Amino acid sequence: MDLDAPEGLLEVARRLEERGHEAWAVGGAVRDELAGHHRADWDLATNARPREVRSLFRRTVPIGIEHGTMGVIASDGVMYEVTTFRRDVETDGRHAVIEFADSLEEDLARRDFTINTLAWRPATGELRDPYGGREDLDRHLLRAVEDPARRFAEDYLRVLRGLRFAGRFRLDIEPETGRALAEAVPGTRELSAERVREELLKIMGGPAPSAALHLYRQHGILAMWYPELAEAAVEDPRWELDLGAVDALPATRARLRVARLLLAVGEDPEARNARARAVLERLKFSNADTDRIAHLLRAYEPVPAPTDSDAQVREWIAEVGREAVRDVLRLHAATARSAGATEGQRYLVFLWRRVHAQLLSHAPLTRAELAVDGNDLLALGVAQGPGMGVLLDELHATVIEDPSLNVRESLLDLAMEYAEMGGLLAGAPPEEGRA
Ligand code: ATP
Ligand code: MG
Repeated sequence: MDLDAPEGLLEVARRLEERGHEAWAVGGAVRDELAGHHRADWDLATNARPREVRSLFRRTVPIGIEHGTMGVIASDGVMYEVTTFRRDVETDGRHAVIEFADSLEEDLARRDFTINTLAWRPATGELRDPYGGREDLDRHLLRAVEDPARRFAEDYLRVLRGLRFAGRFRLDIEPETGRALAEAVPGTRELSAERVREELLKIMGGPAPSAALHLYRQHGILAMWYPELAEAAVEDPRWELDLGAVDALPATRARLRVARLLLAVGEDPEARNARARAVLERLKFSNADTDRIAHLLRAYEPVPAPTDSDAQVREWIAEVGREAVRDVLRLHAATARSAGATEGQRYLVFLWRRVHAQLLSHAPLTRAELAVDGNDLLALGVAQGPGMGVLLDELHATVIEDPSLNVRESLLDLAMEYAEMGGLLAGAPPEEGRA
């Protein structure tokens, strides 16, 4: 059989086969291809040992030598993972100790679900399918490889993976697999937060995360790992709306989808932000991701109203930040779309036009874009200290109100006036309150 694999992968496979090794495309790419979804990231399994793999290619990256994985960069510039056949020696629900194996069969036997055990050999076109994965894929069935209870106990992440695949491909869970999965749910408590987080991000990177998130709820994964969301899921029409909004955002924006999902954890902004942060910290999101997502949640409301002036729109952009405004509006658009609120969608397009016009106008929006800075003010004789910040804030507010004033000369004049009035010049007695 012929699969539509990328040229680079075929080239890597050819080279391995020329040297007398077997090269099999395995895993998600074969599964997705047979399900009709083309992918760029194909993986190979081989009986060649990592050292041999390394010696056969000009450009290799040791991705996980201890797991037998070498990255090979093909002439299309893409890196393909080439992994030596493996078997499990010992598993404890969280990690596996592996050793290299000689046959594809052993390698496939340690995989989780039948749909993930398909292997295709480019050299001959043979499809190896020892567990009937193709039929399960066609019949939309999630089935564990061999003994389901043992499979889950070996690695509890398979519970989450199974729900992800079931959601992604709309699979029914085969009854025995379903029973074992339900019994294994408490075991997911032992997983590292990082693996649970990566699973969430993979769900968010798929076409419609809502399907897997529904399954997370049904199977108690929300209650265990995301109690804040489990609580939100009880309020029905609202929860469906939130999930619809997550789906409405692009799959390439997994973290933006996480932000939209976290808007579900409360109505009151303060409480919501604290609960959302708790989720992000529990899952050990990086500080950068946590800050970015928390910022979007804080900035979510309010957005400018139809009656607001251009100056108020600029003020809003300055507060939210140039980079984040688009995403805040995307969050709102997703909500409106999920609610079928055409008026709301129309307003957001209108608001986006206003915001866009301001972004393009080169109007100064942040303090850094002011035509004067603290040094200029020092040179004018303004005293160091909090008064300096107050003065910069006032100048900032002034140019947001009227961008044409953001010219060095006129701003310096204004600064001088403000400073005199506010008693902010060095030597003048400090005054209470704002200038
Ligand atoms: P995707 O890339 O869409 O997340 P995938 O199936 O490719 O799905 P990977 O994590 O990339 O998932 O793993 C590739 C293959 O390795 C899987 O198809 C499966 O055969 C096997 N595999 C991965 N993780 C596990 C696991 N925890 N237990 C058993 N087999 C696994
Ligand atoms: Mg993969």
